[in-house]
Amino acid sequence: MIPIAKPDLKGNEKKYLTECIDSTWISSAGKFIEQFENKFAEFSGTKYAASCCNGTMALHLALLAINIQPGDEVIVPNLTFAATANAVLYCNAKPVLVDIDKETWNIDPEKIEQAITPKTKAIIPVHLYGNPCDMDKIMEIANNHSLFVIEDSAEAHGAKYKNKKVGSIGHIGCFSFYGNKIVSTGEGGICTSNNKELIDRINVLKNHGMTKERRYWHNEVGYNYRMTNMQAAVGLAQLETINTFIERRRKVENLYRELLKDVEGIKIQKTHDNAEQIPWMFSIVLDNFKLSRDELIDKLEQAGIETRKTFFPLNEMPPYYTDSQFPNSDLISKNGISLPTYAELTEEEIILICDTIKNA
Ligand SMILES: *Cc1c(COP(=O)(O)O)cnc(C)c1O
Repeated sequence: MIPIAKPDLKGNEKKYLTECIDSTWISSAGKFIEQFENKFAEFSGTKYAASCCNGTMALHLALLAINIQPGDEVIVPNLTFAATANAVLYCNAKPVLVDIDKETWNIDPEKIEQAITPKTKAIIPVHLYGNPCDMDKIMEIANNHSLFVIEDSAEAHGAKYKNKKVGSIGHIGCFSFYGNKIVSTGEGGICTSNNKELIDRINVLKNHGMTKERRYWHNEVGYNYRMTNMQAAVGLAQLETINTFIERRRKVENLYRELLKDVEGIKIQKTHDNAEQIPWMFSIVLDNFKLSRDELIDKLEQAGIETRKTFFPLNEMPPYYTDSQFPNSDLISKNGISLPTYAELTEEEIILICDTIKNA
């Protein structure tokens, strides 16, 4: 079976992890945490980074740091992984759903403005499947309305918009290091920012709200959202080889694009003109294809190829239900398929996948 995703752990992961165990520094203190944070900040082009236990908690911490209060509204795309909206709900704030653009599959900036009310405090653009959002337009809207921008970059490590890495453009960037993401620490997350106050705030909140000046003194209720030294050890090793990962993912993407470009009934997620996508999961959408999506997925499965359907629109699921219309989210959700995408995927495997689609 060709899996949809697979982490590459052939660098110093085992060596650094063994160091944690040999030295007994297995919990959330230890040298790898700071090294990993510094290296990730450097990689993402920000001054600071604060690690945490997963990408969802990175989003929660970011929202807490910008002081999202119960009843506040936060704009999110309707087509994303549920964590984006869940983080807003953890603050007892309201995720306000906005439809996507049907070419890029990212939040449609034209529709953001209509969703802004006096209660709106922030926008969370999601760089879906590694494809950067139209950040200039989003930042302009945010500046005009004094809103914060939190970039959900969980699927887009290393992707660039106008030569800037995602996660360095908004006020805070949030990344996930789950097993199937571009960089993995098993479970893990990080917030990036150029604003020291926001990062300091995140570091207090993730450590039980304990004041920096006085140990075991709490001025507020905080959380335990810390990353362990073991996760950071794996992450540091991953960052040492990140440029190779990215290069190989690009090759995978280019070959898919080349082989699928003239296939009737297949459309590929479109990258913004000024952006460089890093495909997290290379994704296509069926547009008058000969077979239904389920039939094509079955054919691929029979050939030993794992695929994934695109996310469900948030508005259709109970916690986020609204009866507004989101035609583009519906279209991509019903017809989209993500194909196997990882650094080690071979040329032969990509050819097999594309031939299976063509023969179908
Ligand atoms: C994976 C993901 C998250 C959450 O990350 P976890 O580390 O699994 O908590 C958030 N947003 C998006 C868009 C994701 O894909």
